Amino acid sequence: MRFALCVLTLRMHELSVTEEILKITLEHARQADADRVLTVNLVVGELTGFAGESIQFYFDLLSKGTEAEKALLSIKRVPTQAHCKACREDFSPDQMNWACPRCGGLMDEVVSGKEFYVESIEVESRPEGAAE
Ligand SMILES: [Zn+2]
Repeated sequence: MRFALCVLTLRMHELSVTEEILKITLEHARQADADRVLTVNLVVGELTGFAGESIQFYFDLLSKGTEAEKALLSIKRVPTQAHCKACREDFSPDQMNWACPRCGGLMDEVVSGKEFYVESIEVESRPEGAAE
């Protein structure tokens, strides 16, 4: 139950995280003197609850009129991994069951699944000296 609520709260922030992605993307594109952003490679942990489709939807909306307009978001999903300190087992918990499959203890540590960042962007630059 607590997990479900947590996902809901995160969902509400998809608009603001997309704003953040766009900001980072445009910063890097301008630094690279890029004319157009083709692809934004994102790393999204399973635990964030972020849905790729809604991020792309907000991105399309927010990027209108910028260098990143019509850019494709390529999302690399990172599965959830937990670590049990009692028996040092690494395991993939499912959403309903967070107990260690080996010793039954509750997991202490999330190893991965909370990631959310822009890994890289692919851009296109206007050829040197070309007229617009
Ligand atoms: Zn264990």
